[in-house]
Amino acid sequence: MSLKDNAHQLVREHLKMDRDGKAHKVPALLEELRRAVTPGHAGSAGGGMSGPPIPINPNALDLLAEIEGEARRDHYEITSTGWHSTLEELLQAFAAMDLTPEWDAYLTHVTVDWIDKITALLWPSKPRRKLVGKTCPACGWSTYGDERKVCLSLGCWDDEGNMRAIGTWDIECASCEAAWAGEQVAYLLRALDTPGAVIVSEVAQVS
Ligand SMILES: [Zn+2]
Repeated sequence: MSLKDNAHQLVREHLKMDRDGKAHKVPALLEELRRAVTPGHAGSAGGGMSGPPIPINPNALDLLAEIEGEARRDHYEITSTGWHSTLEELLQAFAAMDLTPEWDAYLTHVTVDWIDKITALLWPSKPRRKLVGKTCPACGWSTYGDERKVCLSLGCWDDEGNMRAIGTWDIECASCEAAWAGEQVAYLLRALDTPGAVIVSEVAQVS
């Protein structure tokens, strides 16, 4: 991705691919992050000043300050002048600048990092579901290592923490690195005597 693409995702409403492969419009990531700083804000309309104080999400606030600080420092290093407008306008200014290849590569990297951090903060990914007590058909073990970690795990979440369609699940063995995907997953779950329906209900309870 280019710096321009990254700035666009951070600053503008943009298209995002849905689970079913359809693109839909989502708000700018920085707008979502600002909204996360004071999640209670929207609900306080009409409540006057009598309601409880609006809770602040310190992680969102820290990340916003980190991004703003870095962007302003970079702007100063590039132009030797301070930036006197918003962070959003600064990112768009970066994307329109005639940058050296080094600065372009650096800012591209930094903006990808911001996108990843905002995404991880707002939509933390759920861990893979461990298939405790099940033996890997490839290596014959159910646990490995001194800590006896569970070999088999099921991948069933998308990036936003929603359950994927069963046909897109995957199973991996952390010990021998064998992997199964697609229709093999259903066969393997049956062979492990762990019907998909049971996994679905167990997974739903965890979520
Ligand atoms: Zn294995």
